[in-house]
Amino acid sequence: MSKTSEEHSLLVLENYIGGKFVSCRSYIDSYDPSTGEVYCKVPHSGKEEVDAAVAAAKEAFPEWSARSPEQRAKILHKLADLIEANLEEFAQAESKDQGKTITAARTVDIPRAAYNFRFFSTSMLHHTTDCSPMDHMGCLNYTVRCPVGVAGLISPWNLPLYLLTWKIAPAIAAGNTVVAKPSEMTSVTAWMLCKLIQQAGVPPGVVNIVFGSGPRAGDALVSHPEVPLISFTGSTATAQRITERSAPYCKKLSLELGGKNPAIIFADADLDQCIETTVRSSFLNQGEICLCTSRIYVERSIYSEFLERFVAAAKKWKTGVPSDPSSKNGALISKEHLEKVRSYIALAKSEGGIIHCGEGLDQLDLPEHNKSGYFMPTTVITGISDSSRVMQEEIFGPVTCISPFDTEDEAVARGNGVRYGLSATVWSKDVGKVHRVAQRLQAGLVWTNCWLVKSITIKH
Ligand code: NDP
Repeated sequence: MSKTSEEHSLLVLENYIGGKFVSCRSYIDSYDPSTGEVYCKVPHSGKEEVDAAVAAAKEAFPEWSARSPEQRAKILHKLADLIEANLEEFAQAESKDQGKTITAARTVDIPRAAYNFRFFSTSMLHHTTDCSPMDHMGCLNYTVRCPVGVAGLISPWNLPLYLLTWKIAPAIAAGNTVVAKPSEMTSVTAWMLCKLIQQAGVPPGVVNIVFGSGPRAGDALVSHPEVPLISFTGSTATAQRITERSAPYCKKLSLELGGKNPAIIFADADLDQCIETTVRSSFLNQGEICLCTSRIYVERSIYSEFLERFVAAAKKWKTGVPSDPSSKNGALISKEHLEKVRSYIALAKSEGGIIHCGEGLDQLDLPEHNKSGYFMPTTVITGISDSSRVMQEEIFGPVTCISPFDTEDEAVARGNGVRYGLSATVWSKDVGKVHRVAQRLQAGLVWTNCWLVKSITIKH
């Protein structure tokens, strides 16, 4: 059957197995979130492709794991150099594929991907080992860290190259070989990375990338008997499924999951800094970051002032075409996701919540070509009960809820009142209070008077 001219112009990705680009029997459509148009075909891989990738990774393991950390680090630094040399091309692709702003892709996703290779290859050179004396005979127990074998890596769509390289870099720096499956919705920069992996001299089979859907390619990887280690970032629901599927093999699992992160703002906080940062922490990357703030608890004496100033600042957080450098937010990842996020706004309204700005109130000024894109304005909600699904479930969009509190104990209890515990922020000039509250919050990471302070961060 001859192809239409539209099909000819589509980007068609290939799997990367054993150092070679390999086509697939069937393909999945991938959409440009800013237009709603199909622009790319992604391999719809299954067991056959995953088996081939695991075989290649297994074959490459003995030689790669026998190299010294320094030999591996040299190659990974070269890979980082190549990413940096191609930064603009990667940023354009990431923005088109994911809907994020070009600014975010340029300043966070791609620089961080290069940094991941530098960071882990360097850190591997400085590892020390734990050692403990036994209580008799002068003997010592010590730990030797060894590569495990073939690591299965599954990454989500919100920070595509950043999170994929956050998995590939430590795994191969430590001497493992890998089979990675990026999200089917954001595969382009992973495919571009494969070309650089070849150029950097990573031996065939050390990194294999198999594209496709979670239930098909992802499941084949998770349930593969010769993949002893799975590193997954994504939703809690998928993590439960992966845990079940890998349980018969007692695999080592690393699961990085969602959040419903609170910001606790006391009356003595520096409001200028706090409002600017909390708008960013609520809406950056369209709110599609696991660490984004989605519940803001404000001490009652400053609640009215905070709300007024926060809403005014949220309205200025421009949602627009991703390629426009003045856009702070781009498009959400998919039509389905946009509908899901909107459904929470409808739920909030049905429960008596007040929408202060955003969905249903503010019109977006988009060019004709982008009218079918998956855009949503930044939305602020108040008047919702903590038990509402809006306050309990991860929405993963440009939506945040604000509520007043009266006491420190109340703020801590409400901050802890969800099943998630990924991150939190605390705002106060009282140093004793920030340390006390941070310790009482059941979150893996608590920022005080700041948010997302990391080695490479974005401020725009
Ligand atoms: P999903 O859980 O839907 O998907 C994550 C990955 O798992 C994708 O590659 C997906 O493939 C794959 N997958 C889906 N089903 C299966 C399956 N049955 N077996 C194996 N793999 C499967 O998450 P999202 O992509 O929607 O990502 C958003 C989530 O990720 C949010 O909850 C967010 O909080 C979380 N996240 C957590 C981070 C952290 O560090 N804690 C960082 C970033 C995001 P496909 O998409 O192709 O179907």
